[in-house]
Amino acid sequence: MSPAATVPQHAPFTQYPIWVQEKLSPKAISIIQQVHSWVENEFIPAEPVMRAQLAKDPWQTPPLMRSLRERGKKAGLFNLFLPSHFPESPGLTNLEYACCAELLGRNYWAAQTLNCNAPDTGNIELMAKYCNAAQKAKWLQPVMAGEMLSSYSMTEPDVASSDPRTLQCRIHREGNEYVINGRKLFGAALHNPEIRVIILMGLSDPHNPDPWKRHSMLLVPTDTPGVKMKRHLSIMGYTHPPEGHGEVIYENVRVPAENLILGEGRAFEIAQGRLGPGRIHHCMRIVGQCERAYEMALIRCTDARKKPRGKLIGEFDSNIERLADMRIEIDALRLLVFNTAHTMDTLGNKAGKYGIAQCKIKVPLAAARIIDECMQFYGGQGLTQHTPLPEMWTYARYVRVADGPDSAHRHQVGRDEIRSAPAVQARHARYRARAKELAKLFSLVDGIEEKVEDAWEYVPKL
Ligand SMILES: Cc1cc2nc3c(=O)[nH]c(=O)nc-3n(C[C@H](O)[C@H](O)[C@H](O)COP(=O)(O)OP(=O)(O)OC[C@H]3O[C@@H](n4cnc5c(N)ncnc54)[C@H](O)[C@@H]3O)c2cc1C
Repeated sequence: MSPAATVPQHAPFTQYPIWVQEKLSPKAISIIQQVHSWVENEFIPAEPVMRAQLAKDPWQTPPLMRSLRERGKKAGLFNLFLPSHFPESPGLTNLEYACCAELLGRNYWAAQTLNCNAPDTGNIELMAKYCNAAQKAKWLQPVMAGEMLSSYSMTEPDVASSDPRTLQCRIHREGNEYVINGRKLFGAALHNPEIRVIILMGLSDPHNPDPWKRHSMLLVPTDTPGVKMKRHLSIMGYTHPPEGHGEVIYENVRVPAENLILGEGRAFEIAQGRLGPGRIHHCMRIVGQCERAYEMALIRCTDARKKPRGKLIGEFDSNIERLADMRIEIDALRLLVFNTAHTMDTLGNKAGKYGIAQCKIKVPLAAARIIDECMQFYGGQGLTQHTPLPEMWTYARYVRVADGPDSAHRHQVGRDEIRSAPAVQARHARYRARAKELAKLFSLVDGIEEKVEDAWEYVPKL
């Protein structure tokens, strides 16, 4: 019996290609089923209550979220994102977690109920990989246990942060302490008292001849004197409570030297490790958002109350084709994400670099288009709070920038492609040489040599 035959043949499993079904362990199948039931039965119906509680008190974890987090933790569903090679991991591969993340993506807050939300996910992975035992006990364990939240502080307003070699926030050592001075954008808004630790990247050795060794990372408790939340940043009008995004000033902030992660000048090593899986977690969740938006499109297309020109919206050929395009696109996006997750599982994050870039570029762009079409089906209401579509669209849009702009990924992919051009040129030159040989052997047509030259005119003669 093929391993896929043991996978239940109902939602969500039937959406997975056979090669993915074959790779799901019995443990993963059980967890995916639990997450599916969690999101369907506990979370989606609870959305309006969550919204109302957040509207009342945005910067406190709402009581409903708190209760869901406690139950999620008891059910063993916390931190599912942490890949199975970490001793602290609950045991899923990136591929298996991709199935869970898609389900969690059906709502903006669902991931948070299972401690699977950014930036804590990236921070937990960073701490699991690079922190020493004492740092892990002090920061990693409480964040993994959901007893505190964390923030990641890299981006700065006065430089192009997509090239972090330019970061200017200064870190310098004085005795047994590091002193930090600078201004940072994003990271969690520090209004929420549960956010207790920041992972900060700053410039510690500005004169090092190697620009990749000038920066370091520190663990900064949020209650350290000199850490000031200057203002809250909204993202296209959304504030994203209960964590949000903030502008933070660091003014003579002193932390003990033991809060240094891994070693001075090693921030890039750490940042690389942080961003692999974290970059595609967003993409995994976005596939879930697309599915939900698509379901809403199906509802509107068959809503008997809405009959322009006497027909259901879904009876217009143009709309039937739109639905088909969306279906095909969402399935293709899921395949991209699965493929990348599996590459990371089998060959490591470094080998997954191209797949990560592919997801980071393709998924949010395509998702924004799909969600936009779904909004269109809903007419004016599609742009209002009567649907979650505007918020979903905003999420897809912001992922084009968060964790690094897609342009930077395009730059990397394009640069690697250009590097492959000489080998391509050489191969095409070989076609020409072989064609010349064939022309000599089978010179059936007058002027065949000239025709051969014409056909490979585009290949430079080396
Ligand atoms: C919702 C949200 C959450 C975020 N969360 C965090 C967080 O938790 N912590 C944190 O530190 N930061 C966070 N960020 C910030 C984010 O990581 C940065 O905005 C991003 O890395 C880009 O840096 P920048 O804004 O300085 O833009 P820049 O580096 O100035 O880039 C701006 C533009 O320049 C162009 N560009 C840059 N590089 C290239 C290139 N190689 N080729 C071609 N064009 C290029 C692109 O058009 C790019 O969009 C968040 C951002 C958002 C929107």
